[in-house]
Amino acid sequence: MKTSTTLSRPQLPTADDLQITDITITPIAFSDPPLLNAVGVHEPLVHRVVIEVHTANGLLGLGECAGGSSRLANLAVGAAAIKGVSVFDTSRMEILIHEALAAELSVFERAAVFGAFEVAALDIQGHATGRSVSELLGGTVRDDVPFSAYLFYKWAEHPALDGRPAITDEWGAAMDPEGIVRQARKMIAEYGFKSIKLKGGVFPPAQEIEAIQALRTEFPDLPLRLDPNTAWTVETSRWVAEQTDGLLEYLEDPTPGLEGMGQVAERAAMPLATNMCVVAFDHIKRSVELNAVQVILGDHHYWGGLRHTRELGTLCQTFGIGLSMHSNSHLGISLAAMVHVAAATPALTYACDTHYPWNGHNDVIMPGVLNFVDGSVRVPGGPGLGVELDRAKLAELHQQYLDADMSARDDTGYMQRFVPEFTADLPRW
Ligand SMILES: [Mg+2]
Repeated sequence: MKTSTTLSRPQLPTADDLQITDITITPIAFSDPPLLNAVGVHEPLVHRVVIEVHTANGLLGLGECAGGSSRLANLAVGAAAIKGVSVFDTSRMEILIHEALAAELSVFERAAVFGAFEVAALDIQGHATGRSVSELLGGTVRDDVPFSAYLFYKWAEHPALDGRPAITDEWGAAMDPEGIVRQARKMIAEYGFKSIKLKGGVFPPAQEIEAIQALRTEFPDLPLRLDPNTAWTVETSRWVAEQTDGLLEYLEDPTPGLEGMGQVAERAAMPLATNMCVVAFDHIKRSVELNAVQVILGDHHYWGGLRHTRELGTLCQTFGIGLSMHSNSHLGISLAAMVHVAAATPALTYACDTHYPWNGHNDVIMPGVLNFVDGSVRVPGGPGLGVELDRAKLAELHQQYLDADMSARDDTGYMQRFVPEFTADLPRW
């Protein structure tokens, strides 16, 4: 006797179900230690934005990006432009956002605004299909994404200011090679990082070379990087490259501009890396012509989201350029996005940067998903990004933003409160 079988298909959401109905943009502020760089010092609070995209069928996707009043205005314009679009139509979302934003905005800002919404759209795509974001990006080529220890020269505390008492932190001062090595020991003991980056451009280059030499002595097997954020002339950069030959896996943004980087690269034995002179697809052709950089630090916040970041990896492979990952102060939504795209990008050749050891204690996501083991983060299983908002924490950090009355990040202005003669004119040496 024949029997007939009825195959029941799962009910999949339609394009109408997945239309964007509402977007919530929440500016937040979270605490940050006094980390030094070439243009000043980090302020006590970082300005950041959490994005929640809602669909007609009640799904929620998360995004996170840098803040500031102009960014908030641009995000509002972008959000209005993509209402009614399906979260699977990210190419259409990109066109609509680019059309809606003011014509004079940089390619960089347009990419940043789109990228924030693209991450949230991919998060929802994952929830709609039961898949992780890394699966949507092509699947994982690594289960654990390696990060580097991101060391900073830093003050012992934010000094007392305008009636506010000094703000201490668990890290203490790092103003010389001994302080940097002490910081590295603590960070590596807690997170297990297998490579080290030092943010330079703070002290004369000879002193920063001493810090690199001290790190090499303390950690003989760990790859080292130095990033002075264009604090040096071409001549100084060539000298530093000579002095650090054999010590660095790459030298990051020693001098400004593609032409200058090309002149340094002619003499430097190690690869030169950048997140400053190649920050958009437009820059790659000229960089290749000059052989100005040998490693690009991708960043989905800069390059227009996760899919474009993966595409950047393909271009890097095409031209024989290494791929690493840049970081700004960030929380867990961004970290999850960084991990998913890194996991799905075969071209990634270096451990990624992260500020999470400096800022992760402020997080707006529920704990337990993003843990560093031996310097790496296991790719969240999803669905989507695999992270969930901690709404009490989000409300607390939003109130902190309201109370702080911040408009834009100003490392230089904050430094000048304590060192009035400080200028951000680069190159300095
Ligand atoms: Mg950099």
